[in-house]
Amino acid sequence: MIGAGHAGLAISRVLTENSLEHVVLERGEVANSWRRERWDSLRLLTPNWQSRLPGYPYRGNDPDGFMSMPEVIECISGFASAISAPVRPHTTVNCVSRVDGGYQVATDDGEICCRSVVLASGAANVPHVPKLREAVPPQIESFTAFDYGNTERLPRGGVLVVGASATGVQLADEIHRSGRPVTLSVGEHVRLPRTYRGQDVLWWMEHSGVWSQRYDELDDLERARGLPSPQLIGTPERATLDLNVLRAAGVEIVGRLATIRDGHALFSGGLRNQFALADLKMERLLDTFDEWARSTTLDVEVGPPERFEPTRAPEAPRLSLDLRSGEIRSIVWATGFRPDYRWLEVPVLNPKGELRHDGGVVVEAPGMYAIGLPVLRRRKSTFIIGAEDDARDIVGHLVRYLSRGAGTE
Ligand SMILES: Cc1cc2nc3c(=O)[nH]c(=O)nc-3n(C[C@H](O)[C@H](O)[C@H](O)COP(=O)(O)OP(=O)(O)OC[C@H]3O[C@@H](n4cnc5c(N)ncnc54)[C@H](O)[C@@H]3O)c2cc1C
Repeated sequence: MIGAGHAGLAISRVLTENSLEHVVLERGEVANSWRRERWDSLRLLTPNWQSRLPGYPYRGNDPDGFMSMPEVIECISGFASAISAPVRPHTTVNCVSRVDGGYQVATDDGEICCRSVVLASGAANVPHVPKLREAVPPQIESFTAFDYGNTERLPRGGVLVVGASATGVQLADEIHRSGRPVTLSVGEHVRLPRTYRGQDVLWWMEHSGVWSQRYDELDDLERARGLPSPQLIGTPERATLDLNVLRAAGVEIVGRLATIRDGHALFSGGLRNQFALADLKMERLLDTFDEWARSTTLDVEVGPPERFEPTRAPEAPRLSLDLRSGEIRSIVWATGFRPDYRWLEVPVLNPKGELRHDGGVVVEAPGMYAIGLPVLRRRKSTFIIGAEDDARDIVGHLVRYLSRGAGTE
């Protein structure tokens, strides 16, 4: 196993249930990405009761709250201890290659030969920043979610936040509250209310079955896997954080950053279309929830159906911003994350650098599996709550593979 995040640990637990000998190699410590790669104020956007791992339900007294980073680290580390996971910390995997009957894993602490390997190394190892960053004038400081930390690190003055998914809206909100003028560049996004009919929207995702939709039943799997994270934030007030909220607070909304030319950031004019699309998709999802509620006794127990105000588009959003004028002092790139497979010497990546897998079974690499990637086997796959079902499916496949004898599948 490579990686001691929650996904690798979930696999470890199910392997132990099946009496399968294994080791979990981790370059840092358990829950390393939550320790090193997130910003200070981040809280999970999933409610505490959804931080559930195999045989390890949420045990605290605030099931509807949202964990801070220290709490997430404690939760995942507690799980690792509870299952006595065989984690080898501070062991970096530098190379995985194919050998007769399995794989050779070279680490900075020696080599291991194994019949099977599970890549649980994460879906968000590196920030994805578009190439146009190179055209940013040198006087502007650039940050990503990995090096942002908190607003103290930003220079005083205006901030351009690029990207309006979960990370972008959360950081735009925090930076605006620090007193800096914020311009938020918005491309495709997923709008969700924090609560719907009195319940958390992720309660609806889970109970209506939307989150459990299987990868092989989706009309457009590639699109589902590429969807941005929803505009949600976890706060004690269970507040909604959408573009209407940000705009009302004073954040300037502009279109997608199309290019940077001669020191000018140029934004797409398609903001209204983006808003209409996101509103439409949200409405469709709420229709699905309502339909499901009507098919159960819950329809009378939860509040009445709600519909939300459409996203208000600015009258004349700016299409251009002079990055040399001094108005903007820093850019925060909230443009997504990518896995990092530079150590993988087995030809299993597609031309875009993505792992070729069928529900976590890596294609043309018998005995190699993955977990924790977006919509790996279900819509919920990349979330903590999604790990158990995926781990059981994957270990089931792995057990059948090993029982047939490595190399025969
Ligand atoms: C900003 C952000 C917010 C999120 N918020 C939520 C949320 O609210 N709720 C939720 O359920 N999910 C959330 N997620 C999604 C998801 O839970 C995380 O991406 C989670 O960290 C994925 O778990 P994982 O175990 O697959 O990967 P990770 O937690 O990234 O674990 C992978 C591990 O592999 C190790 N590793 C990587 N490469 C190597 C190597 N070469 N050698 C050895 N070790 C290696 C890493 O150090 C790391 O510990 C969020 C993700 C991000 C990025």
